[in-house]
Amino acid sequence: METRLDRYQGARETKLNQLRELIDKSENIVFLGGAGVSTASGIPDFRSGEGIFNQESGLKYRAVDVVSHSFFVEHPEEFYDFYRRKLCYPDAKPNKAHKALARLERQGKLKAIITQNIDNLHQLGGSHNTIELHGSVYRNYCVQCNKKYKLDDILATDGIPHCTRCGGIIRPDVTLYEENLDHSKVDAAIKALKKCDLLIIGGTSLSVYPAATFVQFIKHGNIVIINKSSTYLDLQAKLTIHDAIGEVLDEVVPKRRTKAQIEAAKQLRIKEEKARIRAEQRLAKKKAADSTK
Ligand SMILES: [Zn+2]
Repeated sequence: METRLDRYQGARETKLNQLRELIDKSENIVFLGGAGVSTASGIPDFRSGEGIFNQESGLKYRAVDVVSHSFFVEHPEEFYDFYRRKLCYPDAKPNKAHKALARLERQGKLKAIITQNIDNLHQLGGSHNTIELHGSVYRNYCVQCNKKYKLDDILATDGIPHCTRCGGIIRPDVTLYEENLDHSKVDAAIKALKKCDLLIIGGTSLSVYPAATFVQFIKHGNIVIINKSSTYLDLQAKLTIHDAIGEVLDEVVPKRRTKAQIEAAKQLRIKEEKARIRAEQRLAKKKAADSTK
């Protein structure tokens, strides 16, 4: 007898197969991800029940207020206390999601990762084309002379880290609340989105600007959402999978593509291209016939 669990697993397998097929047919995939990509690496997200914004900050201020520009300027010591405890995870390792995305890049399919995360785990997982919308805790600089510092430099000090060259305050290259995003990164993200033939959105509830607005640049409807909770785009997306991003990607991204798979994908594309040209020719013929009437 078929149980509810069987039906669930059947539905899941059908969706994973759809995703495999979409990936197989695509040549220019972009991944847009958020905190949910890194939770399996032990880094809490911000907004869920166990998220950083709902945890005790350990200070007399709310966590959501601490990560703002004005708080950093007015209370740098408290900012760094919170920052070192809650935002830096130097021992975190890439998980299945990061590794699967790096594989997809090596296979020539994934052209860009647009991430809201500041944890550097995509790079550590082997990805090269990563656009960090909100910066990275791995990069820090002196606000006076711009001298660069590593994460280890910040973690090796107590209190407010100061520049060894000029004595200025060092700050993380991370966009805080009340600050503008780095325009060059937003532009790079939009450029990648406009070129992609498949957008996979994962590990984000799509509630944070600008990621929430990025889908407007996708004109072909090939959008896949993989997230544990629902998003405002679930019904518009071609495929929505409510599951852990790492498990899904690990299952659908081949460990290695076989020659047969590459050839099959190529043949499929040729077939689709021919069908498209035939449809265009039919349309042109019809137009010509109509105009002579
Ligand atoms: Zn300096």
